[in-house]
Amino acid sequence: MGVQAAPEGCIMALDAGTTSVRAILFDEYGRKVAVAQRSLTMHYPHPGWVEQDPVEILSAQVACMIEVQFKSGIHSDRIHAIGITNQRETVVVWDRQTGQPIYDAIVWQCRRTQGRIEKIVEEGYGDLIRERTGLVPDPYFSASKIAWILDNVEGARELAEAGGLMCGTVDTWLIYNLTRGRVHATDYTNASRTMLFDIHRLDWDDDLCKIFGVPRSMLPEPRPSSGGFGEVSADIMRHHPRILGVAGDQQASLFGHCCFDPGGVKNTYGTGCFMLMNLGSRAVTSQNGLVTTIGIAEGGRVDYALEGSVFQAGSVIQWLRDGLGLIEHAGDTAAIASSVPDAGGCYVVPAFTGLGAPWWRPAARGLIAGITRGTDRARLVRAACESMAYQTYDILKAMEADSGHALSALAVDGGAANNDFIMQFQADLLGIDVVRAGCAETTALGAAFLAGLACGFWADREELASLAEGQRAYAPAMPAERAAELLEGWHEAVRRTIS
Ligand code: ADP
Repeated sequence: MGVQAAPEGCIMALDAGTTSVRAILFDEYGRKVAVAQRSLTMHYPHPGWVEQDPVEILSAQVACMIEVQFKSGIHSDRIHAIGITNQRETVVVWDRQTGQPIYDAIVWQCRRTQGRIEKIVEEGYGDLIRERTGLVPDPYFSASKIAWILDNVEGARELAEAGGLMCGTVDTWLIYNLTRGRVHATDYTNASRTMLFDIHRLDWDDDLCKIFGVPRSMLPEPRPSSGGFGEVSADIMRHHPRILGVAGDQQASLFGHCCFDPGGVKNTYGTGCFMLMNLGSRAVTSQNGLVTTIGIAEGGRVDYALEGSVFQAGSVIQWLRDGLGLIEHAGDTAAIASSVPDAGGCYVVPAFTGLGAPWWRPAARGLIAGITRGTDRARLVRAACESMAYQTYDILKAMEADSGHALSALAVDGGAANNDFIMQFQADLLGIDVVRAGCAETTALGAAFLAGLACGFWADREELASLAEGQRAYAPAMPAERAAELLEGWHEAVRRTIS
């Protein structure tokens, strides 16, 4: 990629994702100056199990940090601070003496602890978990994964009880190693995904530690997302920049989109969709099965967020391509969908693995409804594209109902947000503007913002908001009655999927 001048120096964002890690340099205008990326290997030792090598994550991340400096000619003397954003919930357990992991990282997708979670729910802890952590009991979150390692690695539990083990999410693992073991910390947003953290008191919860069997001595120190997390050791970066920003990927994206006010929502359209709504200081409990989590912890205050996800979004497009052979490239779908005026009453309900929020029907399976002789390839592709927008609509309406905030605009990013047809259709259904960020790297940018605020690289949130240039807004163009009619058809199709 081209290298732009960066007279004032840069902030380095480390984006430790699930399938790859990256180091990205941002200049004072929030522009991406250079990027280095490495893929990560996923291990699937048994059906439903997902693991990664923590040392591979770390060395790939360090390699990116070095490479991006050489690529850009901007070295650590001009890197003002480092921000980290990471795949959430994934855990690493390591030996306090040697710093070596005692088992592979157990990745958020891993379902091996389903039985343990069911037992905890049977024992009646569901409400307590929900009240204190804002989460619904599920193997997705970190707590049962940590416990699994302690129960299944020989000698681990005794060592942990004796204070000989440490654990953390990927941010914590990186911080610990980049500071050469000086800092064992995490930020509130990552902590809020472990199921061991009281999101109201902003501290680890002793009862939950006991319920899950995780000694508190293993856990990192929770800190606000913007502030000190130590210095990168000089043998990794010569001028040892400070790590000043840390947030989980979805929360970093919320911040990168500048959704600073209550009611602000971002939606990432990837394989699935991840939506977060800023709740301000009120930790609203959802009546629709959404989770409450820490959204932003910056500037001396904590903003809560409602989070919802659509399981099948971009994956529906992959199904059109790989399952049905209807399209060659995901990028072709916008033109195909736009080649017809509507889907002709056809709806695709992609409940491949059940229906999530707000329906919660794990046993439901997908349905194509309203097929007529006129349903052709274009209309089927269109209906599949539209399903992303319908599912997003349902979650956003649940968020509005839970929070009492009416949406004024929807900030979007992710691979499928590049589909102009879907974005326009989303705006039409919601009756509000859909705004796609100019910077495709909103997650990394959010981490850079958190670090840059802490060292005065950027003055305040107003300045960050003023950097959001080059974005594209889609204004609603469909008459409201037509949108209501389409939604009625969609909800009828969902009802048929459920019944
Ligand atoms: P993830 O981070 O989940 O891997 P990305 O943000 O990279 O996802 O987006 C990839 C997903 O978006 C894929 O499922 C792909 O099918 C879908 N996708 C990519 N481009 C388009 C497009 N132009 N229209 C619709 N879907 C798309």
